[in-house]
Amino acid sequence: MNIATSAVRAEPHVEIGLLLQRHANAIVDRWCEVARDEQRAAQRAHHVVLRDELPAFLDAIGRALKASGQPDSAPQESAKEHGDQRWDNGWSLTELVRDYQLLRLVILDFLEENLGRPLYYREGMAVGVLIDDAIAASIGRYVAHRDDAMKRTEHERASALEDLSRRKDEFLAILGHELRNPLAPIRNSLTVLRKLVASDHPAVGTSLDVLDRQSQQLGRLVDDLLDLARIGRGEFELRKSHIDLRAPVEQALQMTDELIRSRGHKLHLSIPTIPLYLEADAQRVAQVAANLLTNAAKYTEPAGTIWLTVRSEADSAVIRVRDDGIGIASDMLTRVFELFARADQSQSTGREGLGIGLALVQRLVQQHGGTISATSEGLGRGSEFVVRLPKTIGTAAAEADQPAERLVITQVPVDKP
Ligand code: ADP
Repeated sequence: MNIATSAVRAEPHVEIGLLLQRHANAIVDRWCEVARDEQRAAQRAHHVVLRDELPAFLDAIGRALKASGQPDSAPQESAKEHGDQRWDNGWSLTELVRDYQLLRLVILDFLEENLGRPLYYREGMAVGVLIDDAIAASIGRYVAHRDDAMKRTEHERASALEDLSRRKDEFLAILGHELRNPLAPIRNSLTVLRKLVASDHPAVGTSLDVLDRQSQQLGRLVDDLLDLARIGRGEFELRKSHIDLRAPVEQALQMTDELIRSRGHKLHLSIPTIPLYLEADAQRVAQVAANLLTNAAKYTEPAGTIWLTVRSEADSAVIRVRDDGIGIASDMLTRVFELFARADQSQSTGREGLGIGLALVQRLVQQHGGTISATSEGLGRGSEFVVRLPKTIGTAAAEADQPAERLVITQVPVDKP
């Protein structure tokens, strides 16, 4: 016995083909009843349409059964339309398949009743093959619609995200400019005031110091915001030159010296005794290192320890900043470089910050073709940030160099925070 579907298709089954053509309406009525009972959730409006169209489908199946060896695409064309309708009416794939299964059962049942004899095995197979073809054609169309819809949704989601990101950058830029404009006259006025009154009135001098520090801090935040906005809009440019990494690192140490001292931290430095060259924007590298040192000082309880290591490793010039401070919980570790991400404990302990520093640091490092990573064994167990920048080829000699260790600041008395 040949059970290949092509062989089944090639056999003519005139008797059952005629019955299907002749009684198409009666079969559809019966199917409607069964389908309504079993598939209550499926859209009824669709059933009405199917009721009108199914007789033509059954007629096409009847014709295909009668013909021998003549592939007939008519049933499949109808089935494709069924796939369209079911998609449009919000059916599930399970409902779609079940609908055809019910139709097959109704057809086989009806044929047996009207033939007055059991169906031959090959007749049952022939009907089954045609219904299976219809299921495949219908599913094919349904899935194509679903794929299109998914692609559209993905596309819409991606462009909504892009739009949001663009508006965020625009907002940051506007905010930055709006904040920077009043800052310049404030700082100028401060300088004038200091000249005029500070020397005669020490209390005024102290207030001016506070104003000075705070407005400088505000100025740094505003600059960070503007940098982020420029990077986001692709308008940021590095001023790269051939530099010795030790220079920007020393600059970063100067920038953070006051803060580290004021918190009474010990600072361990490990810096090579020979140059470590790279193509980089010295100002921006200093900004990166200063940011990491500031965080280490900020997120470490007074009189803690900070380690700064600079060294050459394989193709990279590496800056490591480690501290024995409050540490970072594992769920936060994956988010520290996100814009506006701040750990709960950073906020509750009143540490100032917007959560933009590390986002900017990461983007600056990436602009250099480098990477930055953060590790921490958990809360209370310190943190380490490692920056890797591409090193200038030919500086391999630095690898052999053992960095010189120095302990820069020993603990100094701390004012109560
Ligand atoms: P900010 O310090 O202004 O909040 P950052 O982007 O520099 O923003 O840092 C984001 C967050 O990462 C901080 O709020 C803090 O929760 C965490 N973090 C950064 N550096 C450290 C560190 N050295 N130790 C512990 N937590 C840190």
